[in-house]
Parts: sequence; C-alpha cells; structure tokens
Amino acid sequence: MEAKKVLQIVRALDFAAWAHSAQRRKGGAREPYVNHLTEVARLVAMATGGNDEKLIIAALLHDVLEDQSMHVNYEMLVGNFGKRVANIVREVTDDKSLPKAERKRLQVVHAPHLSRRAKILKIADKSANLNSILQTPPHDWSATRKRKYFTWAAEVVDGCRGVNAWIEAVFDERLSLGKF
Ligand code: ZN
Repeated sequence: MEAKKVLQIVRALDFAAWAHSAQRRKGGAREPYVNHLTEVARLVAMATGGNDEKLIIAALLHDVLEDQSMHVNYEMLVGNFGKRVANIVREVTDDKSLPKAERKRLQVVHAPHLSRRAKILKIADKSANLNSILQTPPHDWSATRKRKYFTWAAEVVDGCRGVNAWIEAVFDERLSLGKF
C-alpha cells in the first residue's frame, strides 16, 4: 500500500481514538468505544482485501458524527480526510434529532439507497454489534430485547445485500448464533 494511504489510515485511527476517548460500549464488558471502530475497520478491510483505504478510514470514523462529545462535524471530516470519506460517514449517520424508534425505522428504509461502500460498512457495523450482543451483552438486556435487535439488524442488512459476499456471510453466521 502506498505510504500516503497508510498515513491516512493511521491518522483516522488516532482521530477516532481521540473523538471517542470518553465513550465506552454499552455491553457488559464496557470496552473502550474504539474497539468497536477497529473491529468494523478490520471487517471492511478483510471484505475488500485491503484494497479500499477510503472505506477503512470511513469505518474508523463511522460513529464520529453521532457522538457529540467532541463536536466533530461534517466539515471537519472533509478538511481532514476528504469529501469522499466524509460522505460515506454521513451516509451511515443517523439524524440524532429524531426519536430512536424513528431512527431505527429510517435505517431500514434508507438501506437500499446507500452507496456500495456505505452498504458494506453498514453490514460490518451490524455484524460487530451482533458479536457484542453474543459475547458481552448489556446486563439489562432481556432475551426479547436481544431478539428484537437481531431481527431489526437483519432487516437493515437485507436492504444492503448484493454488495459483498464475504461480509454478508460474516453477518449471516453471527445472525444464526442468536438463539435467544
Ligand atoms: Zn458502529
């Protein structure tokens, strides 16, 4: 890989670790949030054979616009990582001004209209979330809540299919483990 691409990826990792430094996963193990970002980045990197550095960078940054603690905005992403990366991140970002149920409904509605890269990222994100629920679920989540999350994630992913067989197989494998 060209030196420039490696530099951009490392910069994105550092930026993401900074932007989410105060955040933890809501799972029982309370992992640092950056672990979620590196898992999603690994999944998209493997899905694309390491050939799409913009997608890896977008994966590292994919939750940065939703977490408001560091006030990162779209323009900051454009300035630091370019418009194409910023656009992928924006595509997978929920509108936080809407109630949670509406945001979840819109993810299902919007999924088929996402770009190819955003679809791969969405499937990787949902795969990582299923794994977290399987491995270290939040203590207060009932079996029903876990089941509901799996059903909803599958609906979102169904709208993203047809872009990358590898990541879809990862998702399906994790989905099949969700016997709650
Ligand atoms: Zn995420």
